[in-house]
Amino acid sequence: MSSKPKPRAAREQLRIVIVGHVDHGKSTLVGRLFHDTGSLPEGKYEAIKAMCERRGMPFEWAFLMDSFQSERDQGITIDTSQIWFKTQKRDYVIIDAPGHREFIKNMITGASSAEAAMLLIDAGHGIQQQSRLHGFLLNLLGIRQVAVVVNKMDLVDYSAHRFAEIRQQYTHYLGGLGVTPDYFIPISARDGDNMVERSTRMDWYQGPTVVEALDSFHPTTRPTDQPLRLPIQDVYKFDDRRIVVGRIESGRLSVGDRLMFSPSNKTARVSSIESWSTPTKPLEAQAGQSVGVMLDEQLFLERGEIASHETDAPIETNVFRGRLFWLGHEALKVGDSYELKLMTRSAPVTVQKIERVFDAEDLSEKAAVDVPRHGVADVILRSRGLLALDEGRDMARSGRFALSDGHNIVAGGVVSMEGYPDQREL
Ligand code: GDP
Repeated sequence: MSSKPKPRAAREQLRIVIVGHVDHGKSTLVGRLFHDTGSLPEGKYEAIKAMCERRGMPFEWAFLMDSFQSERDQGITIDTSQIWFKTQKRDYVIIDAPGHREFIKNMITGASSAEAAMLLIDAGHGIQQQSRLHGFLLNLLGIRQVAVVVNKMDLVDYSAHRFAEIRQQYTHYLGGLGVTPDYFIPISARDGDNMVERSTRMDWYQGPTVVEALDSFHPTTRPTDQPLRLPIQDVYKFDDRRIVVGRIESGRLSVGDRLMFSPSNKTARVSSIESWSTPTKPLEAQAGQSVGVMLDEQLFLERGEIASHETDAPIETNVFRGRLFWLGHEALKVGDSYELKLMTRSAPVTVQKIERVFDAEDLSEKAAVDVPRHGVADVILRSRGLLALDEGRDMARSGRFALSDGHNIVAGGVVSMEGYPDQREL
């Protein structure tokens, strides 16, 4: 083999989300993953160990995460939104999934567009209500690559029987939600069993370690490879020209492209692109960039419209189904009105129908006339004017929405048009 250093190719990245009930060992798992894959900054582990000894406290892997958090709070870490670790195969970006409200907020803003998930369960406590809810939310977000990690196996004497019991229960439950986990892995995050190194204490287990499981997942479609969605944030006028400004949420855009604006259905060609992230005027731009677009015709356009290519335009409708997670204090009822927020669009909507409500405990379908706090339901929403939107499973941004009561976000939801709209209801 040559000893010449190879040119540095861009490493593949995979975005993962780690969810689990509080205290089931999320931070421990992440701390251990960083350490065992050799991804920690040099001296970090030793520094935290020494700090624990000085203070006479037992070492906790979670302290590593706490220290990252405090560095982030102080702005020491360069990347303030994401943390990542490396395996031989690629880099992993961990997307935080803390409390309900944050999770919903991330989900709506697209920050939770994870490509794979690890669901963490405490072997002693087993499945909790939150574990069920997390499974449900992953399904809602269309995250199909899932590894269930059964943690704290040391507390159940590394029992194959206990592991099989949890696997059976959770497989059954997730199956009901349309989620088929790729793996169930028994681990002890604290001791590192089956994380990077294969455990010698669970030789009854033949499956992959956590890192092997993660490395077997595939990158999913990147936003840049999806249809163009450029929601208008603002329209500026100067001279007799107009410049349309927004962030490209998915797809690509080139000078010369014919754009269609939905729901007004006006079209025009891109005559130039202004970008704040490049020194010269670019000929093209892609998802993630904020741009100003100069058009070859003077159209009257408003904030909230979505620019796309004519051949791949969003759905236009004034009635749609949303599968939503309800956070309001009062129950959601037919006839209630809220402010819909979908990308840059705001529009009043009314609840026309509650199709089904899922039980908060086991998420089975139940008969109900309203949706209680923290309930999940399929509802039909109607607006006066036309809305432009997408199927939420496919499009992380233009297919997800929030409802506001004028002060607070009261729901997060995903557009689900399957079998809908029924033309008679339009
Ligand atoms: P989080 O709230 O899900 O982030 O949970 P933490 O990572 O903070 O862990 C909660 C508690 O469980 C801590 O006291 C950990 O030391 C403990 N813990 C985590 N993993 C294991 C494990 O594999 N075995 C045992 N015995 N305890 C663990």
